[in-house]
Amino acid sequence: SNTLLAGKRGLIMGLANEKSIAWGVARACAEAGAELAFSYQGDALKKRVGPLAAQLGSDFLVECDVADEESLDRLFAELRERWGRLDFLVHAIGFSDKGELRGRYVDTSRGNFAMSMDISVYSFTAAVQRAEKLMGPGGSCVTLTYYGAERVMPHYNVMGVAKAALEASVRYLAEDLGKDGIRVNAISAGPIKTLAASGIGDFRYIMKWNEYNSPLRRNVTIDDVGNSALYLISDLASGVTGETHHVDAGYHVVGMKAVDAPDI
Ligand code: NAD
Repeated sequence: SNTLLAGKRGLIMGLANEKSIAWGVARACAEAGAELAFSYQGDALKKRVGPLAAQLGSDFLVECDVADEESLDRLFAELRERWGRLDFLVHAIGFSDKGELRGRYVDTSRGNFAMSMDISVYSFTAAVQRAEKLMGPGGSCVTLTYYGAERVMPHYNVMGVAKAALEASVRYLAEDLGKDGIRVNAISAGPIKTLAASGIGDFRYIMKWNEYNSPLRRNVTIDDVGNSALYLISDLASGVTGETHHVDAGYHVVGMKAVDAPDI
């Protein structure tokens, strides 16, 4: 444990269960001394999120569907009421119709395109828009993205297009909030077996491919991502904003399958 976030208060959005990337980030933040609030989607998740939050000493849980403006307003009103200010925001939310996370991108429907962009891209802007009002200099916002934004990955389809837009929005938000000393960054995580990832076609194959072909010859864990998020959230990264930081065992730098990699 360390004191990197001692005295800081942060909102974690997107915790579903103990496999969630949000859980890795929350744990790293709590170990660094942060006080945490959690927003979760729908009442069904409360019985999972409640005990996890309690493990980190938090009873601050707020239901929030990021597709709903009023729901977001209520969340940030509660943060203002209970804390009066916010030091950091972690957005670990994405969604697309499973049926379109396989097969061809060209077949994406208008409806799912709009929904994927709304929940996976706009929700971060909508949250930052509200968080900004509670943050001062030193404030930090982090979202989660994936390499499918930069290069074509099998089955990622409309989510790749959404993540590209999310990464662009990180740069625009960094410029807007930079004047007030608030930083905005993304972590591009390698594949991790979570609830959201289980909707992606051939995900086991993608995990194997990354394991065999990344410079570290392994997949990343939610703790790898959590510790890097801690760096971006804390003052250690005081000079870093608008960045997409890869936490992918180095996969994104590789141009060709290694000679020692097995055929999979
Ligand atoms: P997860 O299923 O644990 O988390 C996704 C979260 O999004 C859930 O908590 C879900 O409730 C929430 N969510 C979806 N729609 C919502 C809505 N309308 N309102 C509020 N919350 C909503 O999966 P995860 O893999 O931890 O995903 C977290 C983030 O990490 C996502 O943005 C995902 O794209 C990104 N990511 C995941 C991987 C991976 O391989 N797992 C890799 C890179 C990036």
